[in-house]
Amino acid sequence: MKLQEYHAKTLLREQGLPVPDYAVADEPALVRDAAQRFIDAGASSVVVKAQVLVGGRGKAGGVKLATTAGKAAEAAAGILGMDIKGSVVRRVLVAPAADIVHEYYLACVLDRSARRVLFMGSAEGGVEIETVAAEKPDAITYVHAHPHMGLLDYQARLLGFELGLRDDMSEFMAIAKGLYATMIANDADLVEINPLAIVRASDPATGERVERLECLDAKITIDDSGLPRHPQLELMRDLDEEDPVDIAAREQGLSFIRLDGTIGCMVNGAGLAMTTMDLIKRAGGEPANFLDIGGGAKADKVEAAMRLILADPSVRAILVNIFGGIARGDEVAHGLVEARRAQERHVPMVVRIVGTNADEAARILAEAGDTDVQTAATLDDAVEKAVAAAGHAPPAARDGSPTPPAVARA
Ligand code: GDP
Ligand code: MN
Repeated sequence: MKLQEYHAKTLLREQGLPVPDYAVADEPALVRDAAQRFIDAGASSVVVKAQVLVGGRGKAGGVKLATTAGKAAEAAAGILGMDIKGSVVRRVLVAPAADIVHEYYLACVLDRSARRVLFMGSAEGGVEIETVAAEKPDAITYVHAHPHMGLLDYQARLLGFELGLRDDMSEFMAIAKGLYATMIANDADLVEINPLAIVRASDPATGERVERLECLDAKITIDDSGLPRHPQLELMRDLDEEDPVDIAAREQGLSFIRLDGTIGCMVNGAGLAMTTMDLIKRAGGEPANFLDIGGGAKADKVEAAMRLILADPSVRAILVNIFGGIARGDEVAHGLVEARRAQERHVPMVVRIVGTNADEAARILAEAGDTDVQTAATLDDAVEKAVAAAGHAPPAARDGSPTPPAVARA
């Protein structure tokens, strides 16, 4: 789950990282009030930033500086409602504008293959890191944190030196370690600060001009599998920016991932679902989704799963592959029959149900008398029928002659 910048900044602050003050608003009048508060407190200008889950907001015109509260409200009026790479701006962040001396890039990500947290730093911050990686790969420094003890002092220092930091080294080390702490505390798989900036500020005590490091932007993604441990993070989910299909799947407790093929899959168990997809591909077809309806799936879940599959207009056939253990075949069959009755769009369906109450399931499906439903005894048979029903040409025939796609009928 991706977090909006203002939520990510909340998490950074919880770990004691230096983040400038900010407010969030969804209308220009509120932006004006917030900007006025910052200006009254001494800011010479404010920054207004679009809150959308895509990068490159600055380039797209979603980050604007303003010297008065009125101009901030005007900037907000322009940014709110703007479409940035397909995301509509519904909220903006308002903050005292930083007087930037230099922009760095600092991030940590979960490096699954190394089984460690990987730090990436660059003195070429502010621009998208993909651009730096493509054009100046040497400008990025990589350091793996210790698997148990996190980012060690010498590692943080090494990273800081590579970035060219000297005077701000101890601050930098605290920030790098804070990123790690943020990652661990929230089960995040990415914590990215771009830019981490050296800014000029006046010391509140002496009024003297000082330079310090600040996190001016923040991007955090949370490992979805860790979310159940963090109900307070679940509240940060931005439903406006999620695919309705993903929202529906989560509400039903279904693991659903949309793909670009034509054969909808309904399977119980993640391993069986992946095997089913592999077999579909081997038989010359393309799966339209990954879907694990879970163990002990009841009729209502089956119906919900069917709705998700059929919401995808490219689905031309459905393959149901259920291994009845805790899940009962008859329950699933009832769910399938009900779901097909309720549907407006009918596509051919191939059903393989084995295990608990499989005979009962076959009887229920036969009695329903739906001519677009075929049953199959083996998985190979089921996959072949589904691929044919979706109108895919089977893999190159052995004699080299093209075989026309069969139209499957019960
Ligand atoms: P992104 O483009 O979506 O990554 O949004 P950022 O928050 O990183 O902002 C993009 C750029 O706007 C930054 O790299 C800065 O150059 C500039 N920017 C952001 N905040 C401030 C600020 O407070 N003061 C100044 N002067 N520039 C800022
Ligand atoms: Mn940024």
